[in-house]
Amino acid sequence: MKRRILLQSFAALIMLPLIPACRSQVVGETSSPITRINKPLEEWRELVSSRAYQILFEEATERPESSNLVYEDREGTFVCAACFLPLFESAHKYESWTGWPSFTQPIAGHIATKIDFKMIWPRTEYHCARCGGHQGHVFKDGPPPRGERWCNNGIALKFVPIAEQLPALRG
Ligand SMILES: [Zn+2]
Repeated sequence: MKRRILLQSFAALIMLPLIPACRSQVVGETSSPITRINKPLEEWRELVSSRAYQILFEEATERPESSNLVYEDREGTFVCAACFLPLFESAHKYESWTGWPSFTQPIAGHIATKIDFKMIWPRTEYHCARCGGHQGHVFKDGPPPRGERWCNNGIALKFVPIAEQLPALRG
């Protein structure tokens, strides 16, 4: 019995560092919380380009300067390229000189984060709170007051100018 408890505690200890990696946490609060959808990956593959699929559902990263959205400076909304949930407002976009579209904050309640260990050091990955599509990573070297840099893959977003209607959510 003692031996079993010991083994269980040991198992719990080695599992510990993995726990934050699995936990997804929504950023900010909204009066109408987003319901997570679980559309099969094969269906998303039909709806988005193969490159967008690699980024959104396999967590690839686009080359810097490869997206037109880096220089997009019109007023409008940036929606998830998979399910069309609005994720960022143009008012929070800024030039970070990294070659990726960058924002100071997401739309409250529409983004969720998790810790990823793909590099040696842990990074905070973030994704669409509705479809789970990977968007980018958030760093703590952004401008005041929040000091956040939401570094996004342009291909994982779609820009909707203010004069156009937001697309209906899909999925
Ligand atoms: Zn989405």
